[in-house]
Amino acid sequence: MAKALIIIGSTGSIGSQALDVCERLNIRVVGLAAGSNISVLEKQARKYNPLIVAVMDPEKGSDLKQRLSDTPIKVVYGLEGIIELAEFPGADTVLTSVVGIAGLIPTIKAIESGKNIALANKETLVTAGRLVMEAAKSRNIRIMPVDSEHSALFQSMSGNRKQDIEKLILTASGGPFRGFTSEQLKEVTIEQALKHPNWTMGSKITIDSATMMNKGLEVIEAKWLFDIDLPGIEVLIHPQSIIHSMVSYVDGSIIAQMGVPDMRIPIQYALTWPCRVKNNIERVDFCKINTFTFEKPDIKVFRCLSFAYKAAEIGGSMPSAMNAANEVAVSLFLQGQIKFMDIMDIIENVMDNHKVIVDPSLDDIIDVDRWAREEVMRLYSLRKH
Ligand code: NDP
Repeated sequence: MAKALIIIGSTGSIGSQALDVCERLNIRVVGLAAGSNISVLEKQARKYNPLIVAVMDPEKGSDLKQRLSDTPIKVVYGLEGIIELAEFPGADTVLTSVVGIAGLIPTIKAIESGKNIALANKETLVTAGRLVMEAAKSRNIRIMPVDSEHSALFQSMSGNRKQDIEKLILTASGGPFRGFTSEQLKEVTIEQALKHPNWTMGSKITIDSATMMNKGLEVIEAKWLFDIDLPGIEVLIHPQSIIHSMVSYVDGSIIAQMGVPDMRIPIQYALTWPCRVKNNIERVDFCKINTFTFEKPDIKVFRCLSFAYKAAEIGGSMPSAMNAANEVAVSLFLQGQIKFMDIMDIIENVMDNHKVIVDPSLDDIIDVDRWAREEVMRLYSLRKH
């Protein structure tokens, strides 16, 4: 069980729910970090009294340092500051709930400094799964999944042998556009895409859920986390979001983990494992739900899911290129610069143009990330003219 925690991305959806969990479980919050939202970060710092706070944006960090000058809290900023926080010696566990590839370097630094990881940031394993898992293994570091599907898989595997697993079944709600045709998707708005039927999350992952890239990222995350090859990972639409994922075994048994769609459950489990601690989160009322339904994802319409399978199959630096293209395309969509379907076209074009590095180093991954971001902007400016 975590005793002293650092949360990187504390002002976001996962980060703020993690703080609620820590308060309830009496876990000491040693460090907090955010990108730029210093108003929320200041409130969190005053409430939880961490020893250190980091802000990615240097100007905002300097401002926060002033604001917190009446407290003993150390304020650091910029990438160096985030790294100092990730390596801070007073913690045993780091929860990485940053959004995007920004989570990668802090996660690696936290591993290298000997801390266990509660991993929400899926882009870390998507872009650098091999490096991160090897770094953790060589130092005997535990990476506990926070993502509800991976937490469900982890729990459904407990007490079983890996060689007895037939396949992993990742469930997906299908998002706000489940059942839509490509024609219907052409005109969907930002507001519609941000309206997830079951989960309240940050804007990037909500759009990823609408395109189903989120499920694609999760397939790659599962591959690295559980060391399972791709034909063994299947996606199944389950619109009720009660079964969070399942593991199918060679003897025909299928083990599932269930619960209401509330991220505080997997966050808590990642922090209390191997214990389970009582809470007052709503329980599933099976009689109220009445029916569980399942369907196959439509990968012809939701092409992002097939891009992720393809990227994982090709391997090397391809998932990093895909991830960066997705991050920029989603951000362009959220700014109203491109349409929903353009996200898919842009990712496909970037993947087509990417020259794969077979066994990329961390520097290669960072270079590929930069290249893919520039490539999206190049394609975008061509489209505009
Ligand atoms: P949010 O957008 O709500 O929060 C993102 C957090 O990251 C904020 O605290 C933000 O700070 C911080 N941040 C952004 N950029 C940087 C940076 N460069 N350096 C340091 N901090 C930064 O995202 P979510 O909480 O929804 O998601 C976080 C991660 O968890 C994602 O990878 C997502 O896929 C994953 N996840 C989320 C789930 C959910 O239910 N939300 C479920 C499963 C996984 P600021 O506020 O200052 O911008």
